[in-house]
Amino acid sequence: MPKPYQITANTAKVLSLALHELVLMDLRGAECLRELAKLIRKHAEEQSLQDLSEDSLNEAPILNHAEAPERMNAYVVFVLGGPGSGKGTICPRLVEDLGFMHLSVGELLRKEVASGSDVGKEVESIMKSGQLVPDDLAIRIARDAIGALGSAEGLPVKVLLDGFPRTVEQAMAFEDTVCPAAKVLWFTCDEQVLVNRILERGKTSGREDDTAESVMVRLKTFNECTDRIRQYYESQPVSKITLIDASRSVDEVYEQVRSVIA
Ligand code: AMP
Repeated sequence: MPKPYQITANTAKVLSLALHELVLMDLRGAECLRELAKLIRKHAEEQSLQDLSEDSLNEAPILNHAEAPERMNAYVVFVLGGPGSGKGTICPRLVEDLGFMHLSVGELLRKEVASGSDVGKEVESIMKSGQLVPDDLAIRIARDAIGALGSAEGLPVKVLLDGFPRTVEQAMAFEDTVCPAAKVLWFTCDEQVLVNRILERGKTSGREDDTAESVMVRLKTFNECTDRIRQYYESQPVSKITLIDASRSVDEVYEQVRSVIA
């Protein structure tokens, strides 16, 4: 009997066959590990290997990821931009014209606060101060909201995810465990324009964080965290990020966005 995890010639053969197939699949994270586990099982079975039994596979730590939740059937566009950059104006038009669903993580969190739920109580003061809620909570809120949408006839549900991700960790965890982002839209705009828009909006929005004090924190947080996200997506071999000039008129911004995702 081989010792646990000892690599025999047969094991090496199965691994090389599995890896050979895996590299052609262009997968990442949990999905990649799930597929690796399947391929190893398939080749072990084909080679009738005794030393790669089901038990020994289940004990292999890296393959525990095979139990990660199935990814969702969704076409998700991340919509990023500073507070006041117009995401909330453009998204509803895309919903009407292109059949997207619009989910704003900030809006979902505000609903939690308004409902007085435990989550709401946990995040109320964080949000009021303009800081970010914890990554795992933001990811859970996004995943649950997409899961609740359902899709027609097995087609992927089309989602504009507004205000997500706010950190590279959120981006990576979402793409690994929920689904890959199809596109990333980045609304760029001069900071003074953003501040003016927010203060103007604050006169009627009723949002506790649309204040001069909070908007400066929100902008600072946005710039610090999201610059890393931009670098992360720009550095990928096939970049899916597009910069949108959000200082232009609503119609012009809309046309820029439409040309990317229609
Ligand atoms: P927004 O409506 O996008 O301006 O977000 C309002 C507030 O909700 C932010 O200032 C954060 O406190 C919180 N928030 C929204 N989206 C996220 C996210 N993806 N990660 C962490 N916090 C978020």
